[in-house]
Amino acid sequence: MPKLDPNSNDFRAAGHRLIDWVADYLDGVDRYPVLAQVKPGDVAVQLPAAPSGEGRPYDALLADFESKIVPGVTHWNHPAFFAYFSITGSQAGILAELLIAALNTNGMLWRTSPALTELETVTLRWLRDALGLPGDLWGIINDTASINSFLALAAAREALGLDIRGLGMSGRDVPPLRVYCSEHAHSSIDKAALALGFGARGIVHVPSDEQFRMRPDALQAAIARDRAEGALPCAVVATTGTTSIASVDPVRAIGEIAKREKIWLHVDSAYAGPSTVCPEFRWLWDGIEHADSIVVNPHKWFFTPIDCSVLYTRKPEVLRQTFSLVAEYLKTTDTAEINYMDYGLQLGRRFRALKLWYVMEHYGLERLRAVIRDHVRYAERLARELSARPGVEMMTQSLSVVVFRLTAGDEATMALMERMNASGRLFVSHTRLRDRYGIRVAIGNGATEWEHVARVLSFL
Ligand code: PLP
Repeated sequence: MPKLDPNSNDFRAAGHRLIDWVADYLDGVDRYPVLAQVKPGDVAVQLPAAPSGEGRPYDALLADFESKIVPGVTHWNHPAFFAYFSITGSQAGILAELLIAALNTNGMLWRTSPALTELETVTLRWLRDALGLPGDLWGIINDTASINSFLALAAAREALGLDIRGLGMSGRDVPPLRVYCSEHAHSSIDKAALALGFGARGIVHVPSDEQFRMRPDALQAAIARDRAEGALPCAVVATTGTTSIASVDPVRAIGEIAKREKIWLHVDSAYAGPSTVCPEFRWLWDGIEHADSIVVNPHKWFFTPIDCSVLYTRKPEVLRQTFSLVAEYLKTTDTAEINYMDYGLQLGRRFRALKLWYVMEHYGLERLRAVIRDHVRYAERLARELSARPGVEMMTQSLSVVVFRLTAGDEATMALMERMNASGRLFVSHTRLRDRYGIRVAIGNGATEWEHVARVLSFL
């Protein structure tokens, strides 16, 4: 019987070529348009109706990859990628991904890869300490912040003590549940609440102040109103570094309300959390001792390739109570403390800790800090220079995010964004603040230099 891979000869040769390809790609990524300049269907139409029957050599695949796939790629690893939040790969992260695929290990139980479980535990302690987070936080890696916030809100729901795990939510005495977040919270919070049965009516978008931060007085009023109407407040989500503008909700004031009201406080710091590796940004954590759970994305601003999102909680036992379900075939006599499958939805788990470990260990915290500091400096400089341009109105700048508009109005602003993105020289996205469109420049790629950021100014 033929084996799938008879030997490693082709693999070795193709692998060496691929590493060269990747190195050339990273060195020369500027020759590609940042935003793919293709129309819907352009990629699909080039692909055959069915895969190869006999198989094709790696060289032929690489040729197709270059000619058919790469033109349809938006280059998130480009230093002039300023849209959304960059998910910056790094050379260390790319190498780790190769090892992760080589081992192809699945960390559902400790015994299915002790190194995966233990490295995850250790790197998350390192990360927690490096970010100046409290020492009683326990962490787990999942793919995205969206999933981690879902897990946190599921735990919050279980923590109500209504035995929702046992009895479900319908046909019984569960009042309408409420989750509170600011009007600038990420849509993943709403999605999680919808999936957990809170219903769209159960999601309360609390108004924010002039700096786009959740207003604690408005939160308190919303909770009081809901209680008076017979609803049951379950959780509040504070965002430190909102998606549109990187505004920072006042965690301390929100946390004090959460404590008083006995509701779960989840802090979404998916984007900005990693910046707290620099002590000067730790003000973001003011009041974090009140948080029941926190999400931080190394795949957003910590140079770890997507996917790597960390959920910290000081109540892992609630997460476990919510999700642990050990089928017969998964029972073991191991004395290990953690089987990570007990703390979430997923059974199979990738070895994501390996890339986080590679990134932290290869670059070292000082280098990571220096790059993050540069990003914030570039954002501040861009904001200064934009403010000095006639016809430009600065809307906000916070951390590494800058939002501006043209005084000529929404149409002109959006047309400018289209022009920028069509040039291929940079990629920016937009947001809407106080009923006006703004162009959003979010800096976060490990290779970004001022020259890349200055491209924004060259369009004005
Ligand atoms: N939270 C915030 C504040 C975000 O900005 C984002 C994405 O940009 C998310 C959550 C969702 O992140 P993910 O793509 O990891 O689910």
